[in-house]
Amino acid sequence: MTDIRKTLGLRPVINCSGTMTSLGASIVVPHAVETVAAVLSQWTEMSDLQRIASRTIARLTGAEAGCVTASCSAAITLACAAAMTGKDLAAIERLPDASGLKDEIVIQTGHMVSYGAPVEQGIRLSGARVVPVGQATSAHAYQLAGAITDKTAAAVYVISHHVVDYGQIPLETFCEVAHEKGVPVIVDAASEYDLEKFLNAGADLVLYSGHKFLGGPTSGIVAGNKDFVAACYLQNRGVGRGMKVGKEGVAGVIAALEAWETRDHAGIRAREQKALDLWQSTLEGRAGITAIIDPDPTDNPLDRLKVLVDPEGANISAWDLADRMAQGARPVIVRDHEVEHNYFYLDPCNLHPDEEFVVAERLTEELDAARKSNTPIVSDLRLRVLAQEKAILNWPD
Ligand SMILES: *Cc1c(COP(=O)(O)O)cnc(C)c1O
Repeated sequence: MTDIRKTLGLRPVINCSGTMTSLGASIVVPHAVETVAAVLSQWTEMSDLQRIASRTIARLTGAEAGCVTASCSAAITLACAAAMTGKDLAAIERLPDASGLKDEIVIQTGHMVSYGAPVEQGIRLSGARVVPVGQATSAHAYQLAGAITDKTAAAVYVISHHVVDYGQIPLETFCEVAHEKGVPVIVDAASEYDLEKFLNAGADLVLYSGHKFLGGPTSGIVAGNKDFVAACYLQNRGVGRGMKVGKEGVAGVIAALEAWETRDHAGIRAREQKALDLWQSTLEGRAGITAIIDPDPTDNPLDRLKVLVDPEGANISAWDLADRMAQGARPVIVRDHEVEHNYFYLDPCNLHPDEEFVVAERLTEELDAARKSNTPIVSDLRLRVLAQEKAILNWPD
């Protein structure tokens, strides 16, 4: 089969960085691909399609109801809008003017992160005002209680490797404090595999990406309390219109959820483990390289290979190795967002069959080349960051 990317004029990148929006999110699972292709040419009554999605989401999450959105980012905005308006259609049409409504959303400062865009901007897009709780690396229940006023519409909690991973209020406590004051809790669990645990911990609404671990088309999932979900859905008559999900998104997510139920999770885990073992043994004994298997920071059932690079021994820095891996005829994109600490990760979750061998060859290729270099390949990290920032503005050139 020819690679569509060749036809389109795109590089044949291999993704070892994770489910990244910038790389096309995920490999969509076959059942979703077929469903999307089949639904695209048919009229579909969208409220009925979303009703079916609601039942599927409810079955998998244990929630009362659910709906599909354009993305998890959109779901954040719609959930905050819903917390302010409920099912008041006039208020829904008035947003983002939230005058007369409860319009404050509390969130821990350590959760105000960027997943590619700021979490708090997703909140503000609804017309709500963001009320930070605590400091970046410390938040306490009393601070949450103190931040809640008679204007508080909801409390947002983010589960992610992006958030500060210590000193935050545990979700159960967060829910207890919020509920004591009659405030609903919205959990952003975009990248989390567990479809039940956050609702069980007390969340009123949980938001997921349809296109991350689930392998659906670009979409978001809202699950939770029926009235709250309904109020989210009704935002399609207001601020949600510009974020609408098409029939392909809704039908595709239903299919992805069905596929998730029957997926061979153990088999996939074993395949990922084989890739990790291969890469680890490839790197074993290499001067300046230490490779350790690292569990996912938010307890998803997946491991990554942490590749620590000592430039003294390897004759190359971690960031230069990452950059060189991403070049050439067989580009491999590694997970390098913490590269200033002299390591990157190899994520085995998004590979096509046999790509793990290419990754191993590319590691060997670049490390051998570095060893042969007369001068150490250690570029100025500060300039690399500035160049990346500059490159953002270069599009479309
Ligand atoms: C990816 C992500 C989002 C955004 O999800 P999209 O579906 O891509 O909009 C939001 N929050 C967190 C924590 C994420 O990781």
